[in-house]
Amino acid sequence: MNRLANLLLVLLAAAPVAGCALVAGGSAQVLTTTTILADMTKQVAGDRMSVGSIVPASAHVEEYEPRPDDAKRMSEARLVITNGLDLDKWVEPLLRNAKDGTPVVVVTDGLPDIDGNPHMWFDPTLARKYVDKIRDALIALDPAGREVYTASALRYSQELVALDAELKARVVTIPAGGRRLVTSHDAFPYFAKAFGFEIVGFAQPEPDKMPSAGELADLIDKVKAANVPAIFSEAGVSPQLAETIAKETGAKVITDLPTDSLLDKPADSYLGLMRVVVDKIVAALK
Ligand SMILES: [Zn+2]
Repeated sequence: MNRLANLLLVLLAAAPVAGCALVAGGSAQVLTTTTILADMTKQVAGDRMSVGSIVPASAHVEEYEPRPDDAKRMSEARLVITNGLDLDKWVEPLLRNAKDGTPVVVVTDGLPDIDGNPHMWFDPTLARKYVDKIRDALIALDPAGREVYTASALRYSQELVALDAELKARVVTIPAGGRRLVTSHDAFPYFAKAFGFEIVGFAQPEPDKMPSAGELADLIDKVKAANVPAIFSEAGVSPQLAETIAKETGAKVITDLPTDSLLDKPADSYLGLMRVVVDKIVAALK
């Protein structure tokens, strides 16, 4: 075989990795609950395993209602990866469809949580712990791939270290005292801790549930007291509530903040999502 043909084969083999080969539906060897977990798993698994997410991109994770097809996908999975801490608790009844002995990895297990909040991936240091667990689960499932999984996980983990430094360098451009967040739901405690923000409040005390008049009035008082210049409305959420708060407080509304699911480019990977989040926050608060 000549060198050009060889090169072409290498490129073809690498294509699924470069092109984000998440399985949008249909069977996958590794089934994750969310697109963020699917992206992390794909980064480690490369071409050795097909990876799919139960919740599609752009969809709400906490309020997801499994479809009949999900039970079939679960029955075909060789490994299931969930977030845990009730982010994806709807997966519990679905797991009854898994084949006997199918390993189920809960990536937040044993990690230091903040009041049981599930959104740990917003701290890249904890995201690296997710990657370690995903790597170990893949090696246990497919020991012949140990070297591939170990090398990919190391490479990706180094990217997460670089991401952490990059984002921290961006966040410090927000003046001290200006790092205050008001978001749609309680998704940012790990982000706040990692990047030095104060959570002033969130519009919806429970995901997808409207606040009471009293809760809304309390939040408006807090936003006024903290003199917060921007309210972040999350992707897929009607900005109406944020607009109501903005009207009462003089803050501006920033829409489409990604949180629990990947979106279209550039938020179509975990790295991209984190960059979009920080870009939006820095632009609005600095
Ligand atoms: Zn959430």
